[in-house]
Amino acid sequence: MDGETTLVGVMGWPIAHSLSPAMHNAAFEALEMNWAYVPVPVRPGEVRAAVAGLRALGFRGCNVTVPHKEAVIPHLDCLPPRVARFGAVNTLIFDRGAPGGETEGTCTLTGENTDVQGFVRALREEGYDPAGRRVVIVGAGGAARGVIYGLCAVGAASVTVLNRTPERAQALVDDLAASAGETVLRAGALTPASLQRQAGEAELLVQSTTVGMWPHVEASIWPEGTPLPAHLAVCDLVYRPIETRLLRQAREAGAQAFDGLGMLIAQGALSFEMWTGIWPPVDVMRAACAQAPVSYTHLRAHETNCNISYAVFCLR
Ligand code: NAP
Repeated sequence: MDGETTLVGVMGWPIAHSLSPAMHNAAFEALEMNWAYVPVPVRPGEVRAAVAGLRALGFRGCNVTVPHKEAVIPHLDCLPPRVARFGAVNTLIFDRGAPGGETEGTCTLTGENTDVQGFVRALREEGYDPAGRRVVIVGAGGAARGVIYGLCAVGAASVTVLNRTPERAQALVDDLAASAGETVLRAGALTPASLQRQAGEAELLVQSTTVGMWPHVEASIWPEGTPLPAHLAVCDLVYRPIETRLLRQAREAGAQAFDGLGMLIAQGALSFEMWTGIWPPVDVMRAACAQAPVSYTHLRAHETNCNISYAVFCLR
């Protein structure tokens, strides 16, 4: 780094676990760009000061992750209507006036969301188009929200949301109903029977819960001893480990299997392009993510937050 280095980063809390610095810095290095991507730890309640700080420090952009994706919105100068409808921002872009030009000294902050497009883009890059498909998604958290929004935007035929807490699935469906277009949205309780029934009728199964995440790598939403339908395509959003038990079950059944790194990299690549105007080398980004060390501190915190007890895992 030197005085000419352009800065971008990611703000969140906690942030030490993020794979984004490894992914983006590997791409900058491969393209021989004098850019650096830094993790920016921002406590809840500190978003206004953080945005002012990024602006003052001359950052070109910043990704925004949990828990700030909604809290950052009041601090933007510009929010495209499609992002405003979604209600969450994961990419900040600072546009500064050119030196000597009419707009010199100005700085406009725009909010974008690449999570929504990232899921669909990752599937399409694997040769799978979710348009017109019947989809069942397990989980109703933040990740599910982006995925469902993206599926509606490309015209999936139907999306059925199954969740351990069915009220949360229903609330998500109610919230997204106005943006669903032609896509039929349904909600239900996650049980072994409901999952098998819905998977039998669907073409694409998306796993968006934390089940199967390191260190509980032997857990799966799919009940043991029952083969997965071979006609299904299965996408697991978990990317630690890259190959989850669910994906192994899918491959053993002869089903198509897509891992969570695809979506992670696609949303990162879309942000990269918004800042630099260049589509990054996604194979380099994927290799950097796959090699990055696991942050044990984060994983312990996540375990505590979610109060995961796999001994009594609901589908076993
Ligand atoms: P979240 O908002 O905390 O939601 C967690 C979801 O998991 C909820 O639906 C929760 O159900 C469910 N869940 C947790 N433990 C469960 C269990 N034992 N049995 C059944 N359901 C359980 O989390 P998130 O932000 O949506 O993230 C979910 C996963 O997606 C994480 O593994 C994350 O790393 C991954 N993710 C991947 C990407 C990517 O780019 N690949 C992007 C974002 C997230 P309840 O509502 O009943 O609690």
